[in-house]
Amino acid sequence: MNTDNEQRKTFRENVELFVDEAIDQLNISEDISRIVKACRSVIQIKFPVKIKNKVEIFQGWRCIHSLHRLPTKGGLRYSLDVNQDEVEALAALMSYKCAIVDVPFGGAKGGLKIDPSKYSSSEIEIITKKFTRELTRRGTLSPARDVPAPDVGTNPKIMSFIVDAYKSLHPEDINYMAVATGKPIDHGGIRGRLQATGRGVHQSIKEFFRHDDELKKYKIDGNFQNKKVSVQGFGNVGLNTCRALDEDGIKIICVSEKEGMIFDEKGINIKNLIEYKIKNGNIKNFPDGKFINDPNESLFVDCDILIPAALENSIIANNVKKIKAKLICEAANGPISWRANKYLVEKNIPVLPDIFANAGGVAVSYFEWIRNISHIRLGRMNRRYEENRGREIVNAISQITDKKISEKSIQQIVYGAKEEDIVNSGLEDTMRIAFQDIKNLKNEYSLDNYRIAAYGIAIKKIEKSYLELGL
Ligand code: NAD
Repeated sequence: MNTDNEQRKTFRENVELFVDEAIDQLNISEDISRIVKACRSVIQIKFPVKIKNKVEIFQGWRCIHSLHRLPTKGGLRYSLDVNQDEVEALAALMSYKCAIVDVPFGGAKGGLKIDPSKYSSSEIEIITKKFTRELTRRGTLSPARDVPAPDVGTNPKIMSFIVDAYKSLHPEDINYMAVATGKPIDHGGIRGRLQATGRGVHQSIKEFFRHDDELKKYKIDGNFQNKKVSVQGFGNVGLNTCRALDEDGIKIICVSEKEGMIFDEKGINIKNLIEYKIKNGNIKNFPDGKFINDPNESLFVDCDILIPAALENSIIANNVKKIKAKLICEAANGPISWRANKYLVEKNIPVLPDIFANAGGVAVSYFEWIRNISHIRLGRMNRRYEENRGREIVNAISQITDKKISEKSIQQIVYGAKEEDIVNSGLEDTMRIAFQDIKNLKNEYSLDNYRIAAYGIAIKKIEKSYLELGL
């Protein structure tokens, strides 16, 4: 636990300080500042569940930050550290994130105070279904109003428990599948959602490296392929970020989890580490590289790119000076405090902020929601049509030129996009455009960091929406 004075600033207060900075530097009206800082509603629920013949009382929250677009969208977190301040901060980040990547949703977040590792899968099912019924009865949770997704401590299976509980209360709702995203593929999920946040993190860094003018400002050489990366957290986001980087040939020299970290200067074999984590549930005693008990050291290793992918407030004023990375990409929500961020800006260390870098998850959740309310798999109507058209084009070229086209080229030309191809293409496009928008605003207002530009874009879009709709 971080204990310097800064800890007196809560997660929500840190987010509000970033909002204040953006409002100030972009001359946005104070009225908008008041609107975006206020969470529209927070429900706190306590409910009993009988577990192993004993009644336990669970406490949970669902916070709706903004209503300028519906439904609202945001993850559901299962952790003993969940509290109202955290849920409010995360809901606000969701509003900004959706606005940045043009996902037409408001921001929300939920949390349940629970250590999920202490309960069996069937107990988690009972608890989740009770929580869902409590929220649904109070008017939140519906495909049109508020749609959760996985976050820390939750997973696709928990999302299908939510769908099942909602469906039992609203069997007449033909769109019931769209009440949660991040579901298993066989139960309304979309291919690529599980990997989406990590893939988006990879895409955000890749896009940064496409901009020579930006690299120059930060004195970073433009060869992405020779960079060394350290990743804090090997859960859904950290693991899939590592997987995407590894597939692109990027060297990951350090990965940490709660129990400690693996370090290997030559590069960790990520495929083996993923297999090991899935088999053992942790990374302790992974046979390659060096195991170090203190996970926090992963933040301070000598690397080019640091990716915090665990929890908020990892990098704070009293440890930020130890960072050696030349670029930080925030895969987690809120891993850098306001004061630590100030130091990084002073030191000209660029940070790709959470509200941009990890927005790939909500972008693909949006695709899943569309798939659910349109009741059809993406690509189902046109895939074979595209393939047949491709084949006709190949035949026509062959006839006109009187040349034989290689089988490999034919396969590439006639290939009809599958659902995952469409999802990944939409994700890449989303991340690339978002970075370009952030960069343009940063330059337009001569800002010294991407975070304030990202907040500026989000707040301006939300402002526009409120002005056009009325308050
Ligand atoms: P997760 O529960 O799957 O993974 C978090 C991992 O961090 C766990 O494996 C845990 O052991 C590890 N961890 C905890 N404390 C640590 C420490 N001190 N050092 C190293 N590792 C530590 O959760 P997740 O879904 O991967 O979420 C991680 C972060 O990304 C959170 O901030 C979350 O809000 C954010 N996020 C998640 C998604 C998503 O799609 N799941 C989308 C956007 C943002």
